[in-house]
Amino acid sequence: MQIHTTIESLRAARAAAGKVAFVPTMGNLHEGHITLMRQAGERADAVIASIFVNRLQFGPREDFDKYPRTLAADCERLEAAGVAHLFAPDETVMYPTPQQYHVDPAPAHVSILEGEFRAGHFRGVATVVLKLLNIVQPDIALFGKKDYQQLMVLSNMVREFALPVEVLPGETVRAPDGLALSSRNGYLSAAERAEAPRLYRQLTAIRDAVLAGDRDFLKLETMAVAELAAHGWRPDYVTVRRRADLQPPAHGDAAPLVVLAAAKLGTTRLIDNLEI
Ligand code: AMP
Repeated sequence: MQIHTTIESLRAARAAAGKVAFVPTMGNLHEGHITLMRQAGERADAVIASIFVNRLQFGPREDFDKYPRTLAADCERLEAAGVAHLFAPDETVMYPTPQQYHVDPAPAHVSILEGEFRAGHFRGVATVVLKLLNIVQPDIALFGKKDYQQLMVLSNMVREFALPVEVLPGETVRAPDGLALSSRNGYLSAAERAEAPRLYRQLTAIRDAVLAGDRDFLKLETMAVAELAAHGWRPDYVTVRRRADLQPPAHGDAAPLVVLAAAKLGTTRLIDNLEI
């Protein structure tokens, strides 16, 4: 695997790489990321991954400084997964001067859910992903459903700006006990790690109830929030939404649904979701 720290080097490699599938990440790679890399490899001549912890998408009181940075171990995993090129720029490459132009996603898409609790987050995500797509110029870009709203925002950005890239979603990879893999799981204490799968169990319970015909979403959501709170969580939301735009389903709406949740366990904020 070749490691590129400059845009020029990455672009030269990309030009010789044929059909390229791109997987942007913030590093501290786990099996969820690696599954995206493998999926990418099945669809292109070469996989390009990126590792960049993007300051723009972190709020002032969020974990930018303590976000795990594990480049050496990440490189080993990428190499083993057959990734051809890693773009690992530092901030002087991505933001040589403070970024003054930004992508503002549709307010209807980013004033809700994660956007409600993380002001400016998706503006930072969309801005860096547009920049990375312009640098890498891939044929395909892969994003995980783990970050469901992010996938929705980025798919819409690509479509509305007619970016010449195909967005492919990857299924959420979970630990055997159901916990969605996440770099932030590393923040959990042993006791919190044992408690953490409850979030997924609540999502599963809601999905199963809805599939069994229960359409009283508010009751199901309220029960899940209460159950989490009773076990020490501080839930931000548990909510059933339409998959396409993440708005609440109208009465009698037959649109495909997804249930999404975010909750804090100790100081760690976990998110998860499940298509219904
Ligand atoms: P991150 O490094 O957190 O920015 O994630 C990089 C990419 O990996 C994003 O597209 C995420 O949605 C995806 N991802 C993160 N965790 C998982 C997971 N458990 N399963 C599948 N994809 C994931």
